[in-house]
This record gives sequence, structure tokens and C-alpha cells, in this order.
Amino acid sequence: MSINLNISPLESWAKLKSKPLVIAGPCSAETPEQLLATAQGLKNLKVDVLRAGIWKPRTRPNAFEGAGEDGLKWLADVKKEVGIPVGTEVANPEHIELALKYGVDVLWIGARTTVSPFAIQEMADALKGVKNVSVLVKNPTHPELNLWIGAFERLNQAGITNLGAIHRGFSTYDKSKFRNQPVWQIPIELRRVAPQIPIICDPSHIAGKRDLIFEISQKAMDLNFDGLMIETHIDPDKAWSDADQQVTPARLGEILNELKIRQDSSSDQVFNDTLDELRRKIDNIDREIIETLAARMAIVEKIGEYKKENNVTTYQVKRWDDIMKNRAELAKKMNLNTEFITEIYKIIHEESIRKQTEIMKAVETKA
Ligand code: PEP
Ligand code: MN
Repeated sequence: MSINLNISPLESWAKLKSKPLVIAGPCSAETPEQLLATAQGLKNLKVDVLRAGIWKPRTRPNAFEGAGEDGLKWLADVKKEVGIPVGTEVANPEHIELALKYGVDVLWIGARTTVSPFAIQEMADALKGVKNVSVLVKNPTHPELNLWIGAFERLNQAGITNLGAIHRGFSTYDKSKFRNQPVWQIPIELRRVAPQIPIICDPSHIAGKRDLIFEISQKAMDLNFDGLMIETHIDPDKAWSDADQQVTPARLGEILNELKIRQDSSSDQVFNDTLDELRRKIDNIDREIIETLAARMAIVEKIGEYKKENNVTTYQVKRWDDIMKNRAELAKKMNLNTEFITEIYKIIHEESIRKQTEIMKAVETKA
């Protein structure tokens, strides 16, 4: 997949600031007092941007839908009083116009909006020619990387270069410990295809409950994410939206202090040489794994031919059961995670069946 973004790495605003870049503040701006008290609680922490939702996309009607333009005024007042850049979610051109009018520094596009290319295009058009604004795009609600990338392309084509991604997890029908499944491989793949885009993790919306925020934040830091967006409220239990997942400014301070921030590379020669040597070993082992898989597949083909000659079906339940049991036991003996090995064998088996079905089909056409 090729993606064409006109952004130089130096322009990425988040990379120029502290690491991790921290965005904190309430899910929603509720009252001028709540916003000011929260911002004052954040003042002495390493917080780069105060967040507050002004227009809230609620799943069902009749819930609190945000303070609207009044909230923007409170945000502008707090920005002046506390001296911290501010950010809010925008979902249409009118939101953008109002947010810019009140001096909002960072705009973000919410997960429910990223799913709509029409909405994104309208906002990209509204942002044409706007200077000095940073636009962050949350991942779409479902795990589709291309929709996320499409939003960056549309905004970038409109001339926006201060772009960033927010990973907030993905909805799932299955029960899970998370409100939104992290599916880490998606932001990791985004990093691979678009390394210029800083990635900020939003552990609050992934977790759905405050107890999990630290562990998700640490995982994001270990994966070399650039920042964190953590919902913070002066009185979380009384919040008008997302009460379960918000933390107090004091708890945010603890979380930030306890995080281990590891470097993404080292200038230590001994360390680099050791790492190179270990990586060469991995490269060799990977070559052996692939050669072994090729040898296994050659036997699978032979069996396919043999079954064909003897008119026996491709898939045999008993054999498959035996393989799964035996490989899981072997994995356990070798101190490997049995689920991991089971998943690998499912894929290997699927490919074996595909290969043998191909061979069977060749029989049908001949007959
Ligand atoms: C939010 O940040 O409060 C929000 C509504 O998030 P999301 O778009 O990730 O659901
Ligand atoms: Mn929220």
C-alpha cells in the first residue's frame, strides 16, 4: 500500500514537544467552574494541551450533548487564565469555524466522524488555508486502517501538515475487558506506512474504566507512541459523560510519574552491537522457520496427491484433533504460550487444506 503525505517529520508538532505529549482534561466541558478547577489541577503536571468536549456525539438521544458555544467561551477564558493550549472535538465545518473563532489550538476528529469520508472531506475543505492549527484524527470505530489513512490524506491535500493520530480502540460485539479493543497492530501498521504522523494513545476510551488506564498507557509508551490523551475531571464520579473512565488531576499526576519512558534507540556502542548480533540470530532462525514450513508444505502436497489417488477426503477430523492436542502439549513442554502455538497451527492447517483442495480440484477437471 502506498500513501502519499506531504509532511516533513520536523513539521509533526507533537514530535517537537515533550515526550510523551500529554493531552488531559474532562470528557466534556460542563460548567465554567468545573473546567477551571480541572485546568488548575493540571497546571503543575506535564500537560501540554487541555482537552474538553464541547459537542458530544452521544449514542442515544437525551443524554448531555455538550455545552456548545458557551463551552468555547469557558475554554477561551481558561486558556487565558491558566496559560495552556486547548483542544476540542469537531465534527462539521460549523464546529471548525466556531472553534477557530474562540482560539482553540488543537482540533480532533472523533471516532464516529472518521468513519464518514463525506464528513471528513467537508471538514478538510473548511480547513483549506487555515494556518497554525493542529488536527488530530481518532481511529474509526471499526478496525479499518484505510479509512483512518484516508482522513489524513484528505486533510493533508487541503494543506494541513500539523497532523496527528489518536488511537482510541475499536468497538466490538464480543464481551471484553476493554470498552474498545486496542487491536495494537493497527496503530503499529499506521506507524509503518506513515511514520511522519505522531500517534497519541487515548487509554480512557480504550479502557472505559479508570483502573486500566495506567497499564494501557505503559503499553503505549513501550510501543513508542508519542503521546497520551487521558480524560481528567475534578470530580470524576459526578462527570456528565464517561464518569467511569475519568481520573482526578492528582491520579493523572501519579500515572505520569509512574510511567517508564524507554528510549527508542541508544548511542551506546556495546548495546547496539549486542542488539545487532541478537537480531542476526533472529534472522537466521526466521530463515530456518520458513525453510521448514516449505518442507512441511511439500509433504502436505504429497499427501494431497496420495489422497486424490485413493479417493479420500482432504479434511479428516481425527487427524486435525490429534495435531492440535499434540502441538499444544509440545508447546507447553517448551514453555511456549499454548494459545500462540494453537493460532499458528490453525493458520498452517488452513493453508494445508487450501493446497490440498487445489490438488483435488485438479482431479475434478481431469475426470
Ligand atoms: C471523546 O474524546 O470524548 C470522544 C467522544 O471520543 P471518541 O471519538 O474516541 O469516542
Ligand atoms: Mn469521553
